[in-house]
Amino acid sequence: MLWSKTYIPTLRESPADAELISHKMLMRGGYIRKLQAGVYNYLPLMQRVLHKTINIVREEMDRSGAIEITMPVLHPAELWQESGRWHVMGKEQMRMKDRHNHDMVLGGTHEEVVTNVIRGELRSYRQLPLNLYQIQVKFRDEIRPRFGLMRGREFLMKDAYTFDTDLETHKVAYNKMVDAYFATFNRCGLAVRKVESDTGAMGGSMAHEFMVIVDTDSGEEVIYFCNKCDYAANVEKAESIDPKKIASETAKPLEKVPTPGAATIEQVTEFLKVPAERLVKTLLYLADGKPVAALIRGDRQINETKLRNHFGCLELVMATADVVEKVTKAPVGFAGPIGLKDIRIVADPEVMALTNFVVGANENETHYINVNLKRDFDVKEVATIRNAQVGDICSHCKEGTLSAQKGIEVGNTFNLGLKYSKALNAKFIDAEGKEQLFWMGSYGIGVTRTIQATVEKYNDEKGIIWPATMAPYQVELVPLTLQDDKLRAASFELYDQLNRAGVEVLMDDRDERAGVKFNDADLIGIPLRVNVGSKSLEKGEIELKERAKPEVGAVKQESAVETIKQTIARQIAKPQPF
Ligand code: ATP
Ligand code: MG
Repeated sequence: MLWSKTYIPTLRESPADAELISHKMLMRGGYIRKLQAGVYNYLPLMQRVLHKTINIVREEMDRSGAIEITMPVLHPAELWQESGRWHVMGKEQMRMKDRHNHDMVLGGTHEEVVTNVIRGELRSYRQLPLNLYQIQVKFRDEIRPRFGLMRGREFLMKDAYTFDTDLETHKVAYNKMVDAYFATFNRCGLAVRKVESDTGAMGGSMAHEFMVIVDTDSGEEVIYFCNKCDYAANVEKAESIDPKKIASETAKPLEKVPTPGAATIEQVTEFLKVPAERLVKTLLYLADGKPVAALIRGDRQINETKLRNHFGCLELVMATADVVEKVTKAPVGFAGPIGLKDIRIVADPEVMALTNFVVGANENETHYINVNLKRDFDVKEVATIRNAQVGDICSHCKEGTLSAQKGIEVGNTFNLGLKYSKALNAKFIDAEGKEQLFWMGSYGIGVTRTIQATVEKYNDEKGIIWPATMAPYQVELVPLTLQDDKLRAASFELYDQLNRAGVEVLMDDRDERAGVKFNDADLIGIPLRVNVGSKSLEKGEIELKERAKPEVGAVKQESAVETIKQTIARQIAKPQPF
């Protein structure tokens, strides 16, 4: 391809709204352009990267035995009502009405549709196992679309769905997808970590996320790792062991004390001169509209996923000030469990281990000190509802400590169990002639997010450094000038030779200064650059420069094509550029 014949609108400056380096580079390199928040055009270079990435995903899915289909984006609302998720997805689900005023959904995931595809028709256990996948656009009205392709409202996903006769065969299918995911991300040059995650709106009992670990703020997820065993989990799921009951101090008499001007944890600990771990926060929420309270230690963060799972509610929101005032009869900041009636209260096990602690007194500017469980109040519900913290003891090996890193979630795998087959009444006939529900799994890869994660991982101050497996072209050919006839002829000849040899080559045939071309070449990040300049030509040579390496090499013109092909083969075999 000639640069002059395609469309690569590079920019000198980063757009103001681009925060991440990867977003800036994709914009500056002329890969993408924004149409509206979370919705992007994929320009010619991006289109080629998409094809490369999709091919990798498709090859690995096919190799694992999955079968490709394409399902519609436009779904009837009835199907989502049948599964019960019409009410669960909330505002994230893009909805519209057709001309007959029928509710429609622009699909953000396809569990319902794929179950509908097989139900009533896939009837025999002999047809199982089955894995159907597609590479398809998804719509989600994300609250905060941001970071370019990382969190879009329209994006590309590979989604696969497995159907099995029982849990054992389901596990085989699940592990095959896990293997396919590692193979896929490896070919994209990405080292991923598989971490445990919450099953959320998907249902089911087992779930993993595949994370690219990053050291920048591009990682929207925090992942906890054990330093002794291979336990890794995301922040929603990560668990540390609960403390044993502290060798109890003798209970001191309960006292109500004024705490003027002290409502926050910092203010109260400062005022009463007690450490935050001796304070119990009483947090009020509305669980499906009903007020509930959660008790955790003052030095801990509440984990709303764990709390939602405990209450088994669809919607969990922080109570507003007026609800807090109504329930506690005190302004915000002074809620406490003593005397709190008629609502469900759940306490974290760490709270259960405390003696002589501090709580709000449900009175303005007042706290109780020397509070003790059982004697002063009782809780019926105990559940781990706190976030794990760095330094906590691992819940798996019970020896190691947890540390945290940031990550980008590029894929995930879910065991759906019988949730969708049950809700949508999808059954097959087993070997004994009995009707059974399908065991299902669902498996996503964010294709466009993976591409941007790769850019986030592989760049320098000059631009992108693509793994050869994903690069839009294998080689960029740069004639240093087009004014010199000999140089021009040699460049076009090499360009033709490379094309005939099946090499994907982009030639920068613009009448620009060499410096401008080199800058753009570094920016768009093609892994191998070939310079044709007068000085080397006089020696019968051309220059080779790998994007990921500092040095420039020279080869004889007659062996150029062969050396280029070998370099590309080496780069593809080891896709991690550094
Ligand atoms: P997240 O927690 O980031 O919102 P999710 O749990 O909603 O992700 P899934 O519904 O399982 O993700 O989707 C499968 C994959 O699709 C994710 O692992 C991610 O790579 C990608 N993905 C999800 N949401 C988006 C989005 N808004 N933009 C781009 N890619 C996305
Ligand atoms: Mg999401």
